[in-house]
Amino acid sequence: MFDPTPSAASPQSLDRRQLLQMAGSALATAANSTQSSAQGISASGVKPFRNYREVLARLEARGRKWRVLGAAPDGSPIVAVKCGGDKLPAIFISGGAHSTEHAGATATVEVIEQLKTQHQVWVIPARDPIGLSGFRHALSLGLGQPPKLDSHEQLDNFLRKHGDVLYDADGTLLVQIGEHGYANRGLLGKFEKGAKFLEPLLGRRIWYASRRTDTPGSGPLERAYTLIVTPDGEILHLNRFHDTAWAPAEVRCVRQLLAEIKPALTFDMHEHDHGAHYWMSARRQRTEEDEVWERRMAAEAVRAVKGMGSTLAPDSYSPGSFFDKLEPGVFWLDAGKRGQGLNLVDFAAKHYGPGFTIETGMQCPFEERVRQHLTVAQTAVNVFEQRYR
Ligand SMILES: [Zn+2]
Repeated sequence: MFDPTPSAASPQSLDRRQLLQMAGSALATAANSTQSSAQGISASGVKPFRNYREVLARLEARGRKWRVLGAAPDGSPIVAVKCGGDKLPAIFISGGAHSTEHAGATATVEVIEQLKTQHQVWVIPARDPIGLSGFRHALSLGLGQPPKLDSHEQLDNFLRKHGDVLYDADGTLLVQIGEHGYANRGLLGKFEKGAKFLEPLLGRRIWYASRRTDTPGSGPLERAYTLIVTPDGEILHLNRFHDTAWAPAEVRCVRQLLAEIKPALTFDMHEHDHGAHYWMSARRQRTEEDEVWERRMAAEAVRAVKGMGSTLAPDSYSPGSFFDKLEPGVFWLDAGKRGQGLNLVDFAAKHYGPGFTIETGMQCPFEERVRQHLTVAQTAVNVFEQRYR
């Protein structure tokens, strides 16, 4: 059950200026310790997962026990792993909501082993098991058996042959096979809400195959991107619905765990495909104290990424119209301006406290991207521990 009761508000005994000064001076003293504080993190030899089975197999091989929160529509268990220490408040980490962003999906499994903290940590390593298992797996759900499909070039003919065509224009093909939709390319923002031809798919899913060829592991057919058609005909993805009663099973699992553990820090590990640079999004917080710590964790995290020798988003870069720059590599995300309801970190900020969406650049080498995720998590957690010392 979803419990919308926010955790207790922080004490308001300090005014905003005092808090900002505190954060500033602590930043200055901590600046030199950042690199050493995230030392020991390694992504050497870490490879992307080819499917969700491999995620569970790796957890099992490492002796990790998990809790089953629910199931995706293919029957895959949505699992959460508890790690870290026993100290509260808890930390929540997840990734893989967008399965093509596979450095994030890989980092969620590595972070279970590598994150050092006394605080209780809960990790949902993959929020989209179907997408992670690839486009052929997604197709098998509609067909009732594995498809005979060898390459992306055969895709259009395959979809026309096996599905009912719902839309076919300007190089975009959408068909229905069984209960599901399948597309030959991304559809986000492509159609008008409530478009008539989407009626057979209301409340259902659409999968499309990645078209990338420059990022091994996210290439054609290796991943499926999961889209959901809302009951009123809007196409959204799995990192939405956190504040809607109508929500896909994968999202309800996350919400249920959050209500239980009430995390005071949340990370969601993503990637972007606009280059090799790193950035992250922060959220305005319910209390000034929370917001001071949000800023401080973000500032130290990007400093640590820079310290790795990685590239931060250039000054001229903006991820979109609903972002405001906080400092190099960090943007405030305003869900109100964006629309589409709340994503995981928007929702965490509204109900539980600080959190970040981490965005590594898919054109940066894979191991470096995984290391960025781990470094950011560890650096922010080190700051978080100072708060609750
Ligand atoms: Zn993403």
